[in-house]
Amino acid sequence: MSVPREFEIAFVGLKSGITEFDYELGEEFFDAEHPVDFENCQANVKLSLDKHSDFMQLKFEVGGKAAVQCIRCGNPLDVTLWDDFIIIVKMVDNPTEMNETNDDPDVFFIAKNETHLNIKDWLFEFIQLSIPTHPECGEDEKGETKCNKDVLKMLEGFKDNQEQNENPIWKGLDKFKDN
Ligand SMILES: [Zn+2]
Repeated sequence: MSVPREFEIAFVGLKSGITEFDYELGEEFFDAEHPVDFENCQANVKLSLDKHSDFMQLKFEVGGKAAVQCIRCGNPLDVTLWDDFIIIVKMVDNPTEMNETNDDPDVFFIAKNETHLNIKDWLFEFIQLSIPTHPECGEDEKGETKCNKDVLKMLEGFKDNQEQNENPIWKGLDKFKDN
């Protein structure tokens, strides 16, 4: 077991079979080059790399937590991350060509003489995929929404207002239609 500081795995030096890596990824991982719509993410990813002679299986087990906002009312919500992803990395003679024509998102090709594998983008992608894209407050045991009712009321008022503002335009158009 090792804890790499970089996201490059020198797989060429690994023994055949499974090697495990642990990654603790906090706020600094989600920097300016990777803007996200969640906060305070503390993700831990366990990577099991199963090395064979002409391919590797990478299993990413994502855990941890993140803070998101309800899409209806903006309430802060804590979500737990919990998901698995598997990538097969195949060593071939023509990886560029193979990657271009490959339509299986779970397979990636590298050159046979490659020695390192950069997994940063996968870590980022899989953590993002572990976070719900449309989080909502949900309902309490009585079936009532747990959303912030004041905010919902305000949004409702905002919508009504917009509709009222649109009315003169429609009336104006009706006038033309009558002529
Ligand atoms: Zn809500």
